[in-house]
Formats: sequence, C-alpha cells, structure tokens
Amino acid sequence: MNKSIVKNIVSCPNCSCDKYWKVRRGGLLCVKCRSEYRPPPPPVRLSQNQWRTIVRWFVLEQSVSIISEQSGISRYKVMKALQHIRKLMRSQTLDVFQGEVEVDATLYGRVKNRPFRKYTRTKSNSKPDQVIFGALCRGGFVKAKLVSGYDAEMFRYLLKEWVAPGSIIYSSSFKYFPDLKSIGFVHRTVNMKKSIHLGEGYHINGLKGFWGYLKTKLSSRGGIRRERVGLYLAEYVWRYNNRDKSTKEKIHTIIKLIKNTTNI
Ligand SMILES: [Zn+2]
Repeated sequence: MNKSIVKNIVSCPNCSCDKYWKVRRGGLLCVKCRSEYRPPPPPVRLSQNQWRTIVRWFVLEQSVSIISEQSGISRYKVMKALQHIRKLMRSQTLDVFQGEVEVDATLYGRVKNRPFRKYTRTKSNSKPDQVIFGALCRGGFVKAKLVSGYDAEMFRYLLKEWVAPGSIIYSSSFKYFPDLKSIGFVHRTVNMKKSIHLGEGYHINGLKGFWGYLKTKLSSRGGIRRERVGLYLAEYVWRYNNRDKSTKEKIHTIIKLIKNTTNI
C-alpha cells in the first residue's frame, strides 16, 4: 500500500479529520479513525481526458463557448466542470502568513462600468454589501475573501486566522482596522497621502496591485451573477498566486487538485 499523507479539503465523513492515506482503487483511509471512504463524485460525468482538455483551456482563460466548441463537450458540462474547479480553488487553504503583510478592503459594487469603488468615496449612508477583504504577504501570496460588509470584528477574525502573531501588518488608517496590536500584531498604519515621509515599507502597493489585477479581470467578464462573485474571486486569487508557473505546471496543479478531492 502506497501511503502518503495529504492534507486536503476532503475530510472523513466519520470524524471530519482531513488527513488520509490513499489506498487502492481511489479509496481514502482516515489517519485518525482508520475508516475507509471515497472522495465525493464530480458534478458531471467526464473522462480523465475530458477533464484534462477542459483544464487546459481553462488555464488559457478561454470562455465556456470556446472550450465547448474546441472540445466537443456540451456547454452545460463545461460550465459545471469550471464551477467545480473554482469551488476547489475556493476551499484550498494556504499556509499562515508570516513577516510583512499588507491588508486592505475594497468594495465590489454594481455600478455600470465601474465594478470597484474606493471605500473612501462611498457616502457614509450608502450600504456596501459586497466587500472584498484581502491580505498580501510580501514576497509571497495573496488571500482574499468576500465578506458581507465593512465589519471590524470580521476583519480581525480573518487576520487571526490568516496571519501568524508577531507579524508586521501594514494597513491604511481606515477606521475598520482598529488596534491590531491588541491581537498580537505589529501594526503600521499607512497614511495614503504622506506615505513618502514615513520611510521605506510604509505602503500597501502590493495589495493595490492585486486589486487592480482583480478589477481588470472581473470587468472583462462582464456581468457576474452576485452569488458567483466569491467563486470568481477564488479563481483570480489562485491565478495571481500561481502567476509565475508555466501553463504546463498550472494544468498539472489543477489536475492534481481535482484528483485529490474528487472521485474521477
Ligand atoms: Zn476519520
């Protein structure tokens, strides 16, 4: 039996432990309670070759209709497969950030031709209901999540989950990032207008760069259904974090993700 421990998003139905050994015929053996189970079936029936084809076109950022046309797989199946890939990306977890971390929140609105508005320009009485909260580890990855509004408690909760204590956090002086020192971070506030005078490192340009990337990508898709914004966000976080990989490596990573979590 080839035993290799994989930490993943599939978990044991018996004890919900997420560590397992791979055993014969696609079975998984729980490390903790030793019960054998299978990962959930995919949402559509596709052969391994068809999955591979869809993933290749997906990595190349082709639309559902082009993928369907090129592969001969029905639009419905392609759509289901892409949603499945995005869901897997959304449930993947990155290691906890350490070191210098930039933090920011941005509003995802439904203003025509302006999918993003800066929170500074929002009138105080208007209710932002789709807010994207993000953190970028300098020299590393981005984490971002769609939250229901500007909520200081939620931001603190996510930071505690995402970033190791003792890390240096850079944020704007926005009131929703209060007193991060009390939860164990070194908090450096960036005054957006005077950042030059505060010395090196006092900026959140890395994360602003990611917002720009995200904004371009989301608007290029045209209208995204409200309930799907979170899935597309997960896709672009993944793409951004894997931007240095070659097309081949990206395909390989996604195929591995599907195989590790789905019984295909
Ligand atoms: Zn178990």
